[in-house]
Amino acid sequence: MFKVICSRCGVPQEEDDHWKCPRCGYPYRIVWEEPFNPKDIDSHDYSLWRYRRFIAVARQGERVSMGEGLTPLIPTSTPYLYAKLEFMMPTGSYKDRGSTVLITSVKHLIDGRRYREVSIESSGNAGSSVAAYAAKAGIKCTVYTYLSIKESKLRQILAYGAEIVKLPGDVSVVSKAAQTAPNSLYVSHAWNPYFQEGTKTIAYEIAEQRGWTAPDYVFVPTSAGSLILGVINGFRHLFSSGVIDKMPTIVAVQPLEVSPVYHALMNKPYKPPTELTTVADALISTKPIRLQEMVDSLRETRGSAEIVEDQEILNSHKQLAAEGLYVEPSSATTLAAYNKWKEQGKIKHGEDAVLLLTGSGLKIA
Ligand SMILES: [Zn+2]
Repeated sequence: MFKVICSRCGVPQEEDDHWKCPRCGYPYRIVWEEPFNPKDIDSHDYSLWRYRRFIAVARQGERVSMGEGLTPLIPTSTPYLYAKLEFMMPTGSYKDRGSTVLITSVKHLIDGRRYREVSIESSGNAGSSVAAYAAKAGIKCTVYTYLSIKESKLRQILAYGAEIVKLPGDVSVVSKAAQTAPNSLYVSHAWNPYFQEGTKTIAYEIAEQRGWTAPDYVFVPTSAGSLILGVINGFRHLFSSGVIDKMPTIVAVQPLEVSPVYHALMNKPYKPPTELTTVADALISTKPIRLQEMVDSLRETRGSAEIVEDQEILNSHKQLAAEGLYVEPSSATTLAAYNKWKEQGKIKHGEDAVLLLTGSGLKIA
């Protein structure tokens, strides 16, 4: 049904606890080999697991789930503009889609005592989500994070019983600590391919909620790639299976400060600042390991990218709240990019777009 292969050299994964290719050091990706058929959905399951026939899980066993997924897709006050309320999840961010599949996939490795616990690096949302699903599964979890982490996110992670290790330094320092923790299985959303198996269900849901049609545009906050690659893979799967009749234009949205995907796609050089100050604090991957994979996937599917500045993000954040949608600034990047494209005439009258609103505003404090 599916293969796990290196995202760079294509060599199959040999052991299910390998999180990077021993040959080239790159992360794995999952290749799904059967067409999607709406008839195979479990319509009595009101979570993302209704698509379980199409979700790769390392080993079938007890599912670690809290009813995540099937988030509302609502019209906004702007004609033809829809919002997918991904912040309506057990831990307040879309990350729960990935965590349910990821923790379900690795549970046997902990239960079999090959590892004592799981570890992850995070600026907050992935850490909260993995900590919650680890708690549900009875697995010990350590979250490696930055000195700059928001208090609210810290409190949430601690509430789930996870340990926190705060380190000075950037993503390379924090990731290294999580990767080399003794007796610990590294379960990064950026590296572990099962995470994207969860996020691809956003595409299935959008299509199903629209009566198996694709929107013209989907605006996706983009950082490490675990969201955008999942969304692209999901829509690609539907399109290649003949379930939808076109690929939407997927737009990777990044804050100006953290925009390696935008710059690589536009063939422009990118130099990250020494210190990040952007209000989009969930989007911090200045050197994502899956950068080339994102650029290739966007090119192959005629996707695009956009950058937005902090003031535009804050304006969009207000605009969303004014219609009752209280999200993280990182999520408001999508509306900022949409507004830009609308002004520039890139989106024609009558073309519809979906914004992925990924994180709850309650995480801001
Ligand atoms: Zn490789």
